[in-house]
Amino acid sequence: MVDRVYNFSAGPATLPIDVLEQASQDIKNFKETGIGLIEMSHRSKEFMAVAENTESLLRELMEIPDNYKVLFLQGGASSQFFMIPMNLLGNGEKATYLNTGTWSKKAIKEAKLFGEIEVAYSSEEQTFNKVPEQGEYSISDDSEYLYFVSNNTIYGTQFPTFPDTDKLLISDMSSDILSRKIDVSKFGLIFAGAQKNMGPAGVTVVIIREDLMEKTPENTPTMLKYKTHADKDSMFNTPPCFAIYGVGEVLKWLKKQGGVEAMEKRNIAKAALLYDCIDSTDYYRGHAEVGSRSIMNISFNLPSADLEAQFIAEAAKIGLMGLKGHRSIGGCRASIYNAFPTEGVEKLVAFMKEFEAAN
Ligand SMILES: *Cc1c(COP(=O)(O)O)cnc(C)c1O
Repeated sequence: MVDRVYNFSAGPATLPIDVLEQASQDIKNFKETGIGLIEMSHRSKEFMAVAENTESLLRELMEIPDNYKVLFLQGGASSQFFMIPMNLLGNGEKATYLNTGTWSKKAIKEAKLFGEIEVAYSSEEQTFNKVPEQGEYSISDDSEYLYFVSNNTIYGTQFPTFPDTDKLLISDMSSDILSRKIDVSKFGLIFAGAQKNMGPAGVTVVIIREDLMEKTPENTPTMLKYKTHADKDSMFNTPPCFAIYGVGEVLKWLKKQGGVEAMEKRNIAKAALLYDCIDSTDYYRGHAEVGSRSIMNISFNLPSADLEAQFIAEAAKIGLMGLKGHRSIGGCRASIYNAFPTEGVEKLVAFMKEFEAAN
């Protein structure tokens, strides 16, 4: 077996080694029951405790107010693209979307199946290299909610501050949940697939203000109503047990690291190492405009596609893996989520300097 490498994958992404070691034991024999975690009933007292603990840790770490429900759902973050308008947009109602990348585009496409969608802003013509500033777009008075993607995983852009509006705010935080302190009470709904910054693939966390669940039209299928899952503490049917457990273990780890605030400081420092390197030369060019830069995904280019291919291949040889950019924009991308260690970023920066000097 090879030693573990630095894994810059955008998702599923690197997880803390402590979590992986604990999981490898628990999968075989969970808490001395003689039964592995993924073999036991989701209604067993052991698993119920896992689910409760995962929820209460998330509530604690994100300071989620009591009038919000936390749901653990399946179908990926992508299912939220239709579940949100299906539950929250009544017949003929309007919602506003900010188009800042592939994931907002997909959400807009689905939302159009349910209501009138106003795309108030788009950076598509400039290959999604920025997010809007306050005042760069306006929202119709009769719009029900404003939807935005807080971190654009592919393009490496992130809202430095959230839209300031009296509209209901809805955000896809799949790739930056728990990376920085946020005020949940400003949002109606937040969702995130676990596999970027929170755990293994298989569960999507939805944080929803309770009163919103009353809006869902009667003829919505049972499994697709938020209230179905809220009323049964996400145990209406078999939940994704392993993924919920995995998120719980990551949250325990996060708490030990000092919580979200400590993580935010570390994330800012890690990203600064890379951006300082990019800014110190014309050889590397960051994709995102400076004011829109993400601290989670850093997308950048080299002088040519050939050099990019060579860069990615040589990096892999020294254990820097997963640096190829998303197929839609090419180039390189370093995803440095919470669990990605600072030493890995330092090693990448050292390699970037050497590569530039040699090529
Ligand atoms: C990865 C990602 C998604 C899609 O997640 P799935 O769980 O694969 O459906 C949605 N939004 C953002 C911002 C993402 O990074």
